[in-house]
Amino acid sequence: MAEAKSVRLVPPAEFLPSIQGEQQAHIAGATWADQAEVDHYVAQASDETVACRSRGRHFYELPRKTERMHFSGVTPEGFLIRTILCSVCTKVTRVEEWDVRHKRDRIVRMDLVRAYPKYAPGYLGKPGQGRMKPRQIQSAAGTSAMHDLSYREVRKEAVDAAKSA
Ligand SMILES: [Zn+2]
Repeated sequence: MAEAKSVRLVPPAEFLPSIQGEQQAHIAGATWADQAEVDHYVAQASDETVACRSRGRHFYELPRKTERMHFSGVTPEGFLIRTILCSVCTKVTRVEEWDVRHKRDRIVRMDLVRAYPKYAPGYLGKPGQGRMKPRQIQSAAGTSAMHDLSYREVRKEAVDAAKSA
């Protein structure tokens, strides 16, 4: 069906960028954090947080056959809301929205329709700093583990290991 054409002087609200959209656009245009910022972040973060950041992903336990899921809300569209904490860093919560199909009050199908992360304060870098790449996190972790050790000794260990291999 053809839509009637109309001239709008002001875009309707739904076509204006949302605050969230602007933040995302800001993130997309953001620069990368410099290594000193990443080093500082890694120095104050837990090993578990560094592990998640170096992989660039979190771990959320899957629903199990033997353990039912529990929900803590319902969206306006009728999806059930489940929140689950990353079991590695315990700093990031994933909010999941599940579409539940049922027949005569019996659940017949569960579909995950949407999921987004919620970050604990301090998990993300400082506002205004760029984004941290997993590789930068790994370099910072390596530096922190090796800082101030004798290079000669470390190198000798590597050479000896290669000889005896
Ligand atoms: Zn995590």
